[in-house]
Amino acid sequence: MLNTDIYLYDREISKNADYTVWMAFPGVKSFALSSLGFLWMFRSIDLMDDVNVEIVCSDTKKTKFMRDNVDLIGFSFTFDTDYLTIFSMLEKNNIPLKTNERNDASPLIFAGGPVVTANPTPYNEIFDFFVIGDGENINAEIIKLCKENRDKPRSEVLKLLSEIEGIYVPKFKSKVNKITNKLSECVYTPIISENAFFKNTFILEMSRGCANRCGFCLASYCNLPLRTVQYDDIIDTIELGLKYTNKIALLGAQISAHPQFNEVFECLYKKMQNGDKIEMSVSSLRVDAIKPEIVKTLVSGGQKNVTLAIEAGSERLRKVINKNLSEEQIFNAVKIAVDNGLKGLKFYGMIGLPTETYEDLDAMIDLAKRIKQQYKGFDITFGFSSFVPKPNTPFQWIGREDTKSLEKKAQYLKKEMHKIGVTANISSIKWDYWQAVLSRGDSSFTDFLIDVYKSGGALGAYKKSAQKFNINADYYALENYNFDQNLPWDFINMKPAKEFLITENKKLLSQ
Ligand code: SF4
Repeated sequence: MLNTDIYLYDREISKNADYTVWMAFPGVKSFALSSLGFLWMFRSIDLMDDVNVEIVCSDTKKTKFMRDNVDLIGFSFTFDTDYLTIFSMLEKNNIPLKTNERNDASPLIFAGGPVVTANPTPYNEIFDFFVIGDGENINAEIIKLCKENRDKPRSEVLKLLSEIEGIYVPKFKSKVNKITNKLSECVYTPIISENAFFKNTFILEMSRGCANRCGFCLASYCNLPLRTVQYDDIIDTIELGLKYTNKIALLGAQISAHPQFNEVFECLYKKMQNGDKIEMSVSSLRVDAIKPEIVKTLVSGGQKNVTLAIEAGSERLRKVINKNLSEEQIFNAVKIAVDNGLKGLKFYGMIGLPTETYEDLDAMIDLAKRIKQQYKGFDITFGFSSFVPKPNTPFQWIGREDTKSLEKKAQYLKKEMHKIGVTANISSIKWDYWQAVLSRGDSSFTDFLIDVYKSGGALGAYKKSAQKFNINADYYALENYNFDQNLPWDFINMKPAKEFLITENKKLLSQ
């Protein structure tokens, strides 16, 4: 790897610190270097005079700080199956996987990120503590407390940690309030790197959360309310990034909901018209955000394709999931994309959504067919995953359709799309099933998860380990739960509360 990382803050390279933190990323370094939240937290610790911090990834060969001198390890936990890499990183560093097998000489191990914010309970016996919600402002407090009490037994330190708002220590806490930060500053990638997955790209967060509240969407429900960064702050941050690179990426689950979304694009467009060679990209856009000026700006910034998440083929099903998008809006977006120079569109959808029938799949195929016929030469592709019930969403009570029936639907969709010359990429239904098991899992999972890991983590391992440890996987993935049932993640106080989710569930499914 080339050492071409540019740090966008004043960094003290040789600190005289006696407390060391590893920021651990369960993936390769190139992904860590494109992970906005992770890098921002690294920056906040790196700015502390009296704390050493190092990024450690799954492909890290040699660390700067010896494991024996590390006091605290924080893992980012973004995807359900990240636990496999986390286990392997712990083992590689001779750290026992279970909390009760670690002693006072072991570093404290914690996790934060969307997976554990939604439901940390399957990992109760793995991590010493969890950060529930937005972690960027809480790091300093955690580290200060751990550092000041480093000579105390770990159970005492954990007791103290459990008193911090947003920290869940399974051993001590029965309720925890999710942390929701105000976006008082614009969060951006503080390191620009040639080695990042998004090479030399400056990523900045324009908004957090999504007010649309699709019934299945964890990204929306776990990040409510929608928060936006002030316009001036966004522009100043873009200016900062442009001092170091010409590649700018705007991030946010629903950036088009930013009140000055158009103005931000206008500003970038003017810069490009004035000769600035800016390459810009956005993650995905809502269909109603596709406007001529927006597409022109993206095209001037080198973006060739845009992903549009339409989720379902029929208006009926889009209503059920709360993605209230008309067919007219979709066609209008395609026309604007074509007329203003985009080369193609990627549509993203889901199969197996609650109440879905073959009619809804046919509506998706028909939609693809008509776009294809109307805009010959324009590149359209479709990507699908299957519905996974996520904790803390209105659809958390709804089990998945069974695997055979979903595989049949996937085959049907693929075949029919192929007939009309459209590529449909569909995620593995079997993997999505296990994702659902993990999502709605509970504290009985520890040995099952360790066994899956020890058996190599492939699909077959999940089945065998579940049988071995009497985990009724169908209960977690397929079963419909009752509203009055206690759910493993109910102890997390999140807004909107469970009562709202029940009302929303009933409202959506009655359409
Ligand atoms: S619009 Fe997208 S991000 Fe927003 S709630 Fe729906 S699926 Fe989630």
